[in-house]
This record gives sequence, C-alpha cells and structure tokens, in this order.
Amino acid sequence: MAVDVTPSNFIEDFIVEDLESGRYPYVYTRFPPEPNGYLHIGHSKSLCINFGIKEKFNGRCNLRFDDTNPTKEDVEYVESIKEDIRWLGFQWDKELYASDYFERTYELAEKLILKGVAYVCDLSADEIRETRGTLNEPGKESPYRNRSVDENLALFRDMRAGKFPDGSKVLRAKIDMASPNINMRDPVLYRIVRARHHRTGDKWCIYPMYDFAHPIGDALDGITHSICTLEFEDHRPLYDWVTEQCEFEMPPRQIEFARLNIKNTIMSKRYLKKLVEEGVVTGWNDPRMPTLSGMRERGYPPDAVKEFCSRVGVAKANSEVDPGLLEFCVREELNRTADRAMVTERPLKVTIDNLPEGEAREFSVLNNPNSPDSGTHNVILRRDIYIDESDFSLNPPPKYKRLTEGGTIRLKGAYILRHVGTELNGDGSVKALHCEYIEDSQSGGANSSMKVKGTVQWVSVADAQDVVLNKYESLLVDAKDGVTDFNERINPDSLKVVAGAKAEPFALSKAEGATFQFMRMAYYKYAGGNLFYRIVELKDSFNK
Ligand code: ATP
Ligand code: MG
Repeated sequence: MAVDVTPSNFIEDFIVEDLESGRYPYVYTRFPPEPNGYLHIGHSKSLCINFGIKEKFNGRCNLRFDDTNPTKEDVEYVESIKEDIRWLGFQWDKELYASDYFERTYELAEKLILKGVAYVCDLSADEIRETRGTLNEPGKESPYRNRSVDENLALFRDMRAGKFPDGSKVLRAKIDMASPNINMRDPVLYRIVRARHHRTGDKWCIYPMYDFAHPIGDALDGITHSICTLEFEDHRPLYDWVTEQCEFEMPPRQIEFARLNIKNTIMSKRYLKKLVEEGVVTGWNDPRMPTLSGMRERGYPPDAVKEFCSRVGVAKANSEVDPGLLEFCVREELNRTADRAMVTERPLKVTIDNLPEGEAREFSVLNNPNSPDSGTHNVILRRDIYIDESDFSLNPPPKYKRLTEGGTIRLKGAYILRHVGTELNGDGSVKALHCEYIEDSQSGGANSSMKVKGTVQWVSVADAQDVVLNKYESLLVDAKDGVTDFNERINPDSLKVVAGAKAEPFALSKAEGATFQFMRMAYYKYAGGNLFYRIVELKDSFNK
C-alpha cells in the first residue's frame, strides 16, 4: 500500500514500512493504563503518541485497562483515567478491559499446555527467583518441568477451581532456562491470588501475568502496533513468543520508546499515591501534583500539555527534560487565551488630589490584546486607588522604572500620574502617596505621548475586591549529593498563601476555572470564592 504520510519519528517510520510492505492493512493502537492510580504527565506522552498515530494514519486507538492485578486496582482510577484522556481531547474507539478476556486468556493457556509449551510448577516465588540464574549463568530447570500434558491440564483446572492455596502453584511457559534473555527462562504465565477484582469480583482466583495477558489482549483486539516504554524491550521476545504460540493470524508489532522524565518531577503512580496517602498533598488533583488532574486543577490548558509532548519528541534513548519547557508551553498558550486583569498584591494607597471625591472616570480596556475577539471591559478610576508597594521607591536603585518622589508613572489603561507627596509611618515606611493626574494623558489624549518611566497596574479602593493567591512552587527541591530519595526532597515551601491582595472586579466576574494574566504578576486561575491559583509565572526561566 502506498502511504502519503510523512513520518516524523522512528515509530512512524516503522508504521509506514509495515503499511507499505502489507504486513498490516490498517493502523490500530491502544493506550493500556493499569488502573492503579491517576494519570501523570508521563502518560500524556504515551497518549499523544498513540492517539497522534490514530489521527495521522486515519486509524483507530482503543483504551484498554490492564486490570490484571486486582490487589492494587480500583474503579475510582478507571473513572479518573477516562476523564483525563477526554480532557486532553482524545476520543478512544473502544473501551476495553484485560479482565474481559480472562476466559479467552485461560483457554489460550490450556492451548499452550496441550501444545506442551506450558506447565504447572510447584516451586515457590522465591525458589523460582533463585533458580532463574543471572546474566552470566543459565537458570536451573524446575523439577516439575516435565509433567505430562494430562497432569498439567488437570492441575491447571484445579488451580482455577480453587483447590490450591495462594502462591502454591503457578503456570509457566516452557521455553529455555539457558536463554541469554532472562525473560525467556520459563516465565510465569498465571498465579493464584484470592483477591476481589473490581470487575470480575470473586469469579477468578488465578490471574494471568502482564507478559501473558498483554500480547493476547493486543492480538484479540486487532492491534497492529503495540507501543510501550523502553523497559519492555527485553520482553519483546516473550511478547512475540506468546502471539506465535497462540497462533494469532496477525500478530501485533511491539515498538518501544523512551519514557518521559522531567527533572524534579515524580513520575511513578506508586510514589504519587504515597504523597496522597501521607497527606503531603491534598489529593491526586492537588495543583502541585504532576498528574493530569493536578494540572487541570492548577489551570494548565490541555493544548499546552500536548504542545509540550510534541516538542519533547519521540526518542529511543532515555533523557531528562527541563520542567521549564512545560511551563514555557503553558505560558505561550495562556498568553494567547487568558484575559488580563489588574491586581495589586501588596496594596499601597494613592490619593489623586486633583480628582474630586465621588468622581469616576471610566476607561475601556481590551480583555486580551493578543486576542482581538476577546472583547473589552471598563476600569474605573477614582480619587483613591491602590498600586503595588513595589511600584514606588523613596530610594530608587539605579535604572528604577517605576514611581519615585516627584516622578511620573502611567496607570495601565488610564492617566499618567505625577507624585506630589508621601505619608510615612512611625517607622519611616511608606503609608500612602499623593499624586495628581495629568489631564488628557490617557491613550489617544493630547498629552498621551508624554514620556514616563513605566506603566503599573492599579485598582480603585471603592471597587477593589479582596482576593487570596495560592502561589505554587515545585513539589521537590533539587537532588543534592547523595539525596535521591523523594521523601527527603519535599519542598516545605511548595505552597505560599498570600492574603490581602486587591483585584479589579473583572477578575471575579468569570466562572470558576477562568484563567487570567494578572498584569506584571503571573498567570492565575480563578478557583472559586475569592481564591486564585498561580498557574505559572510570567518570566521565562527556560532557555532553549
Ligand atoms: P507508573 O510507573 O507510573 O505506574 P506505568 O508504566 O506502570 O507507570 P501504566 O498505567 O502501565 O503505568 O502506563 C500506561 C501507558 O503509559 C504505558 O504504555 C506506559 O508505557 C506509558 N507510560 C507510563 N509512564 C510513562 C512515561 N513516564 N513516559 C511515557 N510513557 C509512559
Ligand atoms: Mg505499569
């Protein structure tokens, strides 16, 4: 088949090759999460690859839950995974569960027994490990390896019937105990575990191992390209052995890529779960969590996450990505989409002496200058306003670009002010300022071209809304010499709560979830009530 798609990475090269050679008539991928936790940013990489291929090659992509480990899995996780995938904007073709194939998988196990390539082994888990050998030494064959087909079949049926205690027997593939690949040394295919499964309940007391269930699931679904992370590269011979022995007509092709790793970012569900259970964070969706639900809660736009994955690219070698790249993508997206609002974090009162009490001057400002369709809103200037404490200095350092004694400054969207007086507290700190506005200095006015040092945000006292700002920092601090354990790297200052900030009413006029650029501060998400979450800072700390 001629393929008119330009491959953009080595996975797509394989796909084009397979379509052109006729190995597969179509492209079918799957995303196979284990429902034992919430999805994290690493999973979005795999999602973008699998669903990206579906879109690019006009193929299909399933969501298949790898629920073969009943002790760690839960429906809560199934629901969260679906919600997170939808949030990224991906639509799966079929929603499937490995557990739906338990019966078929069991039948295929019997088939392997009948073919003489699987046997019931009574060695304990420890004994199996001890006799597996090492990279340099071959393993030792199990004393149960040469049981007859009839005996194996009877024992395997009794395993299913619940006649043996947990862990007392397993079904193993009969491959090669001397194989240079340890995964091929008679791997376990089935184990006995009496655990309630979140879908099949108590129906089963034997469960297939991942290495057995996974290729079977792929093949039964008609998957053509089974994309997984690099640590499964050494499992590929076993993957191929299973599909060959089960005699599938169109065995899928496993392709491995490098996992996404981000500096100072935990990418393991097991450990993220610990953070939740130990109360280090408020939940899986805590805005500091590298989970997709945490990022959604924080206010990251889904398109920024996808753009990040695309910029990271698909590689065959493991590496560590700078978290600044993700923040860069978030900032770029919000710069396009977030409305601007004025907030003073540490309000300093300014009286405009030449604007009479009770007078109000309205100015129309663009909601987002980068997005012409975003509309406008009015800001109201009154005699008493707030600016930010940091925008005035009695002793300005060189090159200070804000207000000084006798100096001028432009109020964003409104007039230019000239400083005329300072009220001090007993300790010499600044209590309040007095200024005068310059007539016709608003944009388009006769005096608008007057030179000023800078432009600052402001809020009229009478309209100001009290808001609380949750400022988030990285959950982990940099790894210092020898300290690699996450537990010792938890940042004690990953959340700073700032009260007493004053916002213009526009910031509170939108629905929960709305995102803003608080001018000259940072991007924030409206989290309901009077609370805002800092999504990302304005400054770009990421250097390409
Ligand atoms: P964890 O160790 O966090 O539990 P996992 O690999 O066990 O991760 P799964 O639920 O089995 O999690 O993963 C579903 C899919 O997502 C798999 O195909 C897996 O390879 C992929 N995936 C998981 N983590 C990453 C990552 N950091 N980068 C890229 N893909 C990943
Ligand atoms: Mg896993």
